[in-house]
Amino acid sequence: MRVDLHNHTTLCNHATGSMEEYILKAIELGIDTFGFSCHAPMDFEPEYRMSLSQTKKYEKDVLFLKEKYKDDINILLAYEVDYMSDDQYIEKDILNADVDYLIGSVHFIDKWGFDNPEFVGRYEEKDIDEIWEEYFQAVSQMVKTGYFNIVGHLDLIKIFKYLPTKSIAEIAYQAMQDIKESGMVLEINQAGFRKPIKEQYPSKELLKLAFDLNIPITFGSDAHSIEQVGYGYSEAVNIAKEVGYTKCVVFENKKQRLYNF
Ligand SMILES: [Zn+2]
Ligand SMILES: [Zn+2]
Repeated sequence: MRVDLHNHTTLCNHATGSMEEYILKAIELGIDTFGFSCHAPMDFEPEYRMSLSQTKKYEKDVLFLKEKYKDDINILLAYEVDYMSDDQYIEKDILNADVDYLIGSVHFIDKWGFDNPEFVGRYEEKDIDEIWEEYFQAVSQMVKTGYFNIVGHLDLIKIFKYLPTKSIAEIAYQAMQDIKESGMVLEINQAGFRKPIKEQYPSKELLKLAFDLNIPITFGSDAHSIEQVGYGYSEAVNIAKEVGYTKCVVFENKKQRLYNF
């Protein structure tokens, strides 16, 4: 079973290619289960996400393709939802939407979009260990809301290779425990291969910790273009297998099911 649960659409204003082209590419690659999880609406930096008025069309379009290609591929409907240190930015309509799963992602520390190349200068302005600690505290808070099914790109804070002086395993320890307790699934996000850090999220070190804690995994290419669909999958699978994983999760109506990958 080949799974890819993290993919975007042009509705977020920073992706290219039609949804149908993503599906055709996924079928060509032999992906069995493909999830659209575009950036959910939020009243902060709205230019990077769909608006609330676009959600119905997004959901309708995904379900249309799901039906159209049902003999070739299993298409799932989802959102990637931003978590910002408090609940005020989360659209309750999204939390209650009739979708297969929600990816919870931290892209901001105190409104600093730390994965945006535009704001990369901020890494130099503050103690790097503190930045990492604040990031993983935000991940913990996101996990503890209980709103989400998948932890998006667990160690995204490494994106530009500003690494802490302290042990990452130690910094991430509490977040890992919280993930374990929440029953959430960790995605192996392949976008990291395309970024300065040049490795998947999470690192092999954190993936080993996840395996020891019995935290289930899934896969996502985080594609923002047709060429990125499935990119880095075989590398991600190899790393998962080296760590000891043999099964990955697929969600349907927020219920987990495990498959051999
Ligand atoms: Zn995006
Ligand atoms: Zn993301």
